[in-house]
Amino acid sequence: MPVTIKSAREIELMRAAGKILGKVHQDLGKELKPGMTTLEIDHIGEEMIRSYGCIPSFKNYHGFPASVCVSVNDEVVHGIPSKKRTIQEGDLVSLDIGVVYKGYHSDAARTHGIGEISQNASELMLRTRECFFAGIRYASAGNYLHQISGAIHNCADKYGYGVVRDLVGHGIGSHLHEEPEVPNYRKFHRGIRLRSGMTLAVEPMINEGTGNVEWMDNEWTVVTRDHKLSAHYENTILITKGKPEILSITEDEIAEGIWMPGGNE
Ligand code: MG
Repeated sequence: MPVTIKSAREIELMRAAGKILGKVHQDLGKELKPGMTTLEIDHIGEEMIRSYGCIPSFKNYHGFPASVCVSVNDEVVHGIPSKKRTIQEGDLVSLDIGVVYKGYHSDAARTHGIGEISQNASELMLRTRECFFAGIRYASAGNYLHQISGAIHNCADKYGYGVVRDLVGHGIGSHLHEEPEVPNYRKFHRGIRLRSGMTLAVEPMINEGTGNVEWMDNEWTVVTRDHKLSAHYENTILITKGKPEILSITEDEIAEGIWMPGGNE
């Protein structure tokens, strides 16, 4: 499938989907408490998604059994919610959520610390977000896709972190996963030229130790090979001539001033 350029109407729908997803992330993040099961998190998340008239993108996607991927500590992505798994004070919990609104997907992930977390964990979480922003500085029409990838990798290198290579970001729109792949590591090829109207899910998965990962026996959950911590930060973005629009940013993040969506400089 070729890389799609979204029409004005499609962009409006993706903005709406992203706004809802930002709200779901913000509200669900505030629900997290020690002692909750990861299945409870999924149920609350699914209810929130459906309350906006959206469908959870991940539910039954290639057989994934839940609406929210809940990945704890050394789990990188695709943690399967379970009533047997509780989150504890000090855990790092990554929530990856996709919603479909009127046929258009938005995909975003946030990592949260539960209660008081170690300094290592807190730095990993914040620096993973920093890697995302380092990458999207290059996400403008006329630049090349792998400039984003290289900038994410450079940011992770600066801290001595491992970059996950087995999973990558992606184009997104009427399908959850579209072309192109958006790697989080340097490539020798510069990649495609970015154009206004492309929509991408940019999602650094950054590890405290090695970037190498393995799959658990459930065939879904990806864990770090050294079982050190991992963090994930993802947004759906729209390429414009200027700064990209971060469609799934949360209101708290806007208030924090980390990025003004929609502002073309
Ligand atoms: Mg994604």
